[in-house]
Amino acid sequence: MKEIIRKSVFKVSPYVAGKPIEETKRQLGLKEVIKLASNENAYGPSPKALSALKKSLSMINRYPDAQGFYLKRRLAKEFGLVAENFVLGNGSDELIDVVMKTLLEPDENIVTSEATFLEYEIIAQVLDRQVKKAPLRYFKYDLGAMLKLVDKKTKIVFIANPNNPTGTYVTKFELADFLDALPEKVVVVLDEAYDTFIDVDDYPDSLSYLRRRKKVVILRTFSKAYGLAGLRLGYCIAPQELAAYFERMRQPFNVNLLAQVAGLAALDDRDFLKKTRRLTLVEKDFIYRELSKLGLAYVPSVANFILVDVERNGVDVFKALLKFGVIVRDMQQYGFKNFIRVTIGTRNENERFIRVLRKVLKEKK
Ligand SMILES: *Cc1c(COP(=O)(O)O)cnc(C)c1O
Repeated sequence: MKEIIRKSVFKVSPYVAGKPIEETKRQLGLKEVIKLASNENAYGPSPKALSALKKSLSMINRYPDAQGFYLKRRLAKEFGLVAENFVLGNGSDELIDVVMKTLLEPDENIVTSEATFLEYEIIAQVLDRQVKKAPLRYFKYDLGAMLKLVDKKTKIVFIANPNNPTGTYVTKFELADFLDALPEKVVVVLDEAYDTFIDVDDYPDSLSYLRRRKKVVILRTFSKAYGLAGLRLGYCIAPQELAAYFERMRQPFNVNLLAQVAGLAALDDRDFLKKTRRLTLVEKDFIYRELSKLGLAYVPSVANFILVDVERNGVDVFKALLKFGVIVRDMQQYGFKNFIRVTIGTRNENERFIRVLRKVLKEKK
């Protein structure tokens, strides 16, 4: 079959997802498995979204609204914008694809960072477009180094803010300087999947750049704080003209009926969002303290996950934790050999993670 496959397909390195709970139970014969591997919401889905879903189940013989009218209108109200500023996606992953398909000519490239969200590079590979990556600096995006990579053929810069898997962020001052120095035609995609968890004062107000007519596209998702990862729903906020071109490039029914209903209800679930944020911040401190007691260093995070230096092979630690029913993420694909990434869970889950980690580290001295 190889000879009939398009050449660029061989360059694609497939995305490796967090290991699913059911698969782990099946493969290792375990009863109790916890997953702290995909930065999902540990407190479940939004209850308001759940009850709206239950009411809508009998509607799924119908196609979804191809325009996402109610959800876009609700989002516009949320941000003081108009519906035409929004494009909905089957997760924000799909919108990364749509943005690239809309903007990149065959000879044009994207600029991003090493050790960042892998989908930027994978989707560029699928579309056979070049990717230029600057190394991180002290686990942070190095915007200065990225600026140097921008050339005549650069059309898009992708910034995960905060970055996954490091949990670090680009400050409003760093971003302002970067945007000022960037050539006019370059579009900056700010991927803000973890915006709800931010607890610092110098995080950029990305919408202000949009209002000042900068070429920025903001990506947000319902997969993390809203607890709807399984439904696949994300959106982008973009200048109206740009959003209209993105609309042209997506599938007509890319966002399913249940996702639209759930997203609409979740936006009204302020209590759930507040609770998620509050507990995540409390639990983050708990894990920090426990890691310090174990003598382990970590990268301070503004998101709902922590990159931990385990001082020995991270894949070995990942596998050892797995045997005790704790799924985390090894960092081999990101080039962090001695690290794991752990998602902040419930107190019970976090205690179990620390208990098992302590045991595993003793064995793997
Ligand atoms: C989790 C995550 C997303 C969200 O992807 P969805 O497709 O919306 O589930 C996007 N960007 C980053 C950096 C992420 O970590």
